[in-house]
Amino acid sequence: MNAIILSIGDELVLGQTVDTNSAWLSQQLASVGCAVRSHITVGDDQRAIEEAMDESVGRCDFLVVTGGIGPTADDLTRQALAAVMNVPLELNESWLASVKEFFKQRGRTMPESNSIQAMIPRGARILLNQNGTAAGIDADYISGDQKTVCRVFVMPGVPSEMKAMFARDVLPVIRQASAGAVILSRTLHTFGVGESAVAEMLGEQMMRSRNPSVGTTVSNGIVSLRVNARFDSRERAAEELERAVEACRGKLGDLIFGSDDVTLQQAVAERLAASRTTVTTAESCTGGLLAKMLTDVPGSSDYFKTGFITYANEAKYERLGVSMEMLNVYGAVSEHVVSAMARNARRLAKADYALAISGIAGPSGGSESKPVGTVCIALAFPPLPPGEGRGEGARKGQESSVAARTFLFPGDRAWVRDRSAKMALTMLRFHLLNKPLPF
Ligand code: AMP
Ligand code: MG
Repeated sequence: MNAIILSIGDELVLGQTVDTNSAWLSQQLASVGCAVRSHITVGDDQRAIEEAMDESVGRCDFLVVTGGIGPTADDLTRQALAAVMNVPLELNESWLASVKEFFKQRGRTMPESNSIQAMIPRGARILLNQNGTAAGIDADYISGDQKTVCRVFVMPGVPSEMKAMFARDVLPVIRQASAGAVILSRTLHTFGVGESAVAEMLGEQMMRSRNPSVGTTVSNGIVSLRVNARFDSRERAAEELERAVEACRGKLGDLIFGSDDVTLQQAVAERLAASRTTVTTAESCTGGLLAKMLTDVPGSSDYFKTGFITYANEAKYERLGVSMEMLNVYGAVSEHVVSAMARNARRLAKADYALAISGIAGPSGGSESKPVGTVCIALAFPPLPPGEGRGEGARKGQESSVAARTFLFPGDRAWVRDRSAKMALTMLRFHLLNKPLPF
């Protein structure tokens, strides 16, 4: 079974309203194994609607249409559907009575223009609307030569009305037609390696002909793998999905920090909580973004007590005790300085770990040797792992080991700051996993 989703409205093609209906409908259809071939959007123009319908009815089992069934002159979906089906519009007396009743209950008489909402193409059925006056339409499109059959559902554009109608009257029909088929999905998230490098590691896993299929997307530096399993039964789909997810994990290992709704900061928070350890931050160019991310997670007070924003050199000296000599000799953006920031922050905050960031977020401030995007990150940690003779001194941050790295992040100021904070989280995550950074 497959479907095409057609959204109608000038506000959609003008970009004034985001087409959330299609996204929601696609997810609903996937849940009953109905593949969506395409999303089409056209304005309130009868010719354009007819063309879109004409093109679609021969290419799908279900054409799911939203929008354009209001009472005004710009609502032309029913007229277009009747034209494509080559039948006249007919008055549905019982829906007309419902619309009149709708107005009567609100102490008003029905404007004449609303009677159009009770018109449907001959042979079609009404989809009741319990939340408004726009009834939906359920029609069988059959071509003149009887070769093409497509079931067309037309629903209101108003998301709440559309969702109620779809759930009650449309989804059960499609579910039954797809006879237990489902599309189950999982999204796996990585950070630190580019999209093409991730694709290379996945190799044949990403072949387009495979089911489950694996695709990648990028958002704010997070490269995500989308695994979709389409099978005739939920059990089989679940089994195959698990197998494909395991295969992806086998290829990418600990680069995957979580799945579905898990964020990078949650993944780190989980590890900190599990090891009952705390972290502090010493930030220059990120101005508190790393501390913000660490405290995005509910319950973060268990592992985050305090952080330092030391933007100017004087602050690095006065608040963290980084020597002016070191700042002058190596510069604020140097592995020497971030290492000192991390070591001293760890001691002052009496934390188990400290992350320090100093970089050039731009747009100005870059030089030939340290261009915009140069960011130094350090992690200070106890000299010995827990349980290996680590004394109270180490625990209270008295002695530290430090790992520092220099990165060159592309992009504008916001990008550089975001990637810096995420990279710092990633350095801590791999340390907590007891593994070296894999890049
Ligand atoms: P209509 O049924 O075409 O009169 O749509 C009524 C309202 O529903 C519009 O003004 C939009 O705000 C909203 N709407 C229509 N289509 C969509 C869509 N595809 N996604 C989200 N909202 C929509
Ligand atoms: Mg409209």
